[in-house]
Formats: sequence, structure tokens, C-alpha cells
Amino acid sequence: MSTATLTIDLSAIAANWRALDKLSEAETGAVVKADAYGLGLDKVATTLATTGARQFFVAVAEEGLALRRVLGPGPAIYVFSGHMPGDAELIRSADLVPMINSVDQMLLHVEQLPGHPFGLQLDTGMNRLGMEPAEWSALRDIALAQNPRLILSHLACADDPAHPMNAHQLAEFHAMTDGLDTPRSFAATGGTLLGDAYHFDMTRPGIGLYGGLPFIDAVPVVTLDVPVIQVRDLVAGEPVGYGNTWTAQRPSRIATIAAGYADGLIRAMGPKASLTAEGRRCPVVGRVSMDLVTVDVTELGYDPLSLQLLGLHQSVDTVAEFADTIGYEILTSLGGRYSRVWLT
Ligand SMILES: *Cc1c(COP(=O)(O)O)cnc(C)c1O
Repeated sequence: MSTATLTIDLSAIAANWRALDKLSEAETGAVVKADAYGLGLDKVATTLATTGARQFFVAVAEEGLALRRVLGPGPAIYVFSGHMPGDAELIRSADLVPMINSVDQMLLHVEQLPGHPFGLQLDTGMNRLGMEPAEWSALRDIALAQNPRLILSHLACADDPAHPMNAHQLAEFHAMTDGLDTPRSFAATGGTLLGDAYHFDMTRPGIGLYGGLPFIDAVPVVTLDVPVIQVRDLVAGEPVGYGNTWTAQRPSRIATIAAGYADGLIRAMGPKASLTAEGRRCPVVGRVSMDLVTVDVTELGYDPLSLQLLGLHQSVDTVAEFADTIGYEILTSLGGRYSRVWLT
């Protein structure tokens, strides 16, 4: 078999949820948008529900429907994008809680689904989603009279505890919501790590569940092993790959592995990336192609059957650094061609 194997440790996800849950007195939700950060919505959500999560978050209503089919009735499913035109039937039938982002969404919701549960998303400075203070003042009394389930806002810089934006947004959130009866949620993974002041009634971690920074104590979740298709000897002076961007400086042994940028091995990571063989580092040489990557295995002294990109020796965040990106993008780029194995 030439497809790579992506192993997802569900017990590690459960351990990470429990560890994040212990960091606060608040109820701990779980963000499972984008197919649970690329790791498989059905397996991951089932694991989290069994572990104790009762509040789930997705980006769009269609993800909410898929999640409802997995979880069955009971757990709350909040939709960050709120109530979008055309979504009413989906929201109703899957019993989703849209996080209303604007006066327009509020009007649409009340018109289409009067009495159906909703939440409110406030903008405290990120300027991405949610109502700004002026809009909120105008809508507040009308919205609150209809018993919103949750009020949330999102931190822009929580991965940097020293960033002044954190305290600024916290003050803004207090100013907009203090004295209300509605439960509040402010912290994703980064905010959960910022301490009690940021926890409010519910935390909603995503990346920390899946083993990524800023949760440095996370248990690693993913392992990616890529089969070697062919190994060849090069003499000094021979080039490798598209554009001949790498040339052997010495007699070299080059392994070609069965994954490329179509599988989420981001092309930009080429020159800085490495894979490992039993913990020993083997540098990527030449360009990353669509389905293949070439790796210098000269130093190993043997031909490996497969090379590992992600695992105990290289975390999601190490690989993210190769490509000047973040762990989130590495996880959500993981390709559809892998054989996925879920460990329980
Ligand atoms: C994605 C997202 C989260 C989860 O963030 P992590 O950094 O992955 O923990 C929480 N809240 C909102 C609004 C989000 O968009």
C-alpha cells in the first residue's frame, strides 16, 4: 500500500479535554469545526461526548447537522456563523443554536424561527464576527427578552499572554455583559490558559484538544507515517526534483515518499522540512511535488520502509514552523488520501 497512514489517538484527545477542563471551574465545551480540525468529526465528537463534553461548537450550520447525526439529541450545538439566509430549516431540524452576529441576523432569526434557541456573539475588538458595542446597545433589550442561551466573544491575541489586547478585550466584554443573567463564554484554548478572569461560565477549546499550541502540556494526538516508494543513489552534482532546486554535494541516498502538497505537505515547507526515521532527522531535499517528496536518507545507513512527518519526534507545531504557518493549518490541511486509523 502506498498511501500514508494518519493515526489519530482518541484517548489523547480525551486526556487533553480533561486536562483543559481541570484548568477552570467553568463548564468545558469543545470546538469541532472543520471536521474536528481535520481529525474526523464522528470519531472525535463521539469521544468528547463520552468524555463529558455537552456543549459543542461548529463554524457553519451544515457542520452542525453532521454533528447532530453523530451525537443524537441532547448536547448543545452552537454555530459561530450564526443564522445565515437559507439556514432556517437546517437550524430547526438539527436543533442548532445559531450565534447571532448582527441585527440583520437577529431579525432573520426571529422572523424565520420565532422561539427557537439562539446565542449572541459580541465583538470586543477583533473585528471579525459579532455585534459591536453600538449595535449591541441598540439590540440588547430586545435580544435579552428572548432568552439567549449564551453570549460569547473571541480573543484575538490569547496565544500571547503578555499582549495588552487580552486585558482590553476582557474589559470590553465586562462592560458589554456584566449584570446579565445569560451564561457567558470568552475563552478558546489560549484564553483558558490565561487564568480564571477569562473563564466566565464556559470555555470552548479547539486546538488544545488536538495537541497544538498554545497548550504546551497537550498530549500529542496525530502520527503521520509515509511509505517510501523508491530509494536511489546520487553522485555529487546530480539534482533532485522540479526546478533542480537541490543538488547533491556528496554521494547521496535519496528516498521518494508517497505524499505531497495535495496531501497537506505544504509546498512552502520544502527547504526547511525534515521527516524522521526511528527518531533520526532526515531532511527534505528539492521541491515538494503534488504526490511525492524527496528525502535525504544518506546518514541513516539503511533504507527505511517509511518516514514519519508527525509524531513524537516532530509535533504539529514543529512542522508548522517548517512552513511558516500554525499547527491549525497543518491539521486542517491533512489530506483525504491518507488511511486514517483511530486509536481508542
Ligand atoms: C475556532 C474558534 C475557537 C477555538 O479556538 P482554539 O484556538 O482552536 O482553541 C473558539 N471560538 C471561536 C469563535 C472560534 O472561531
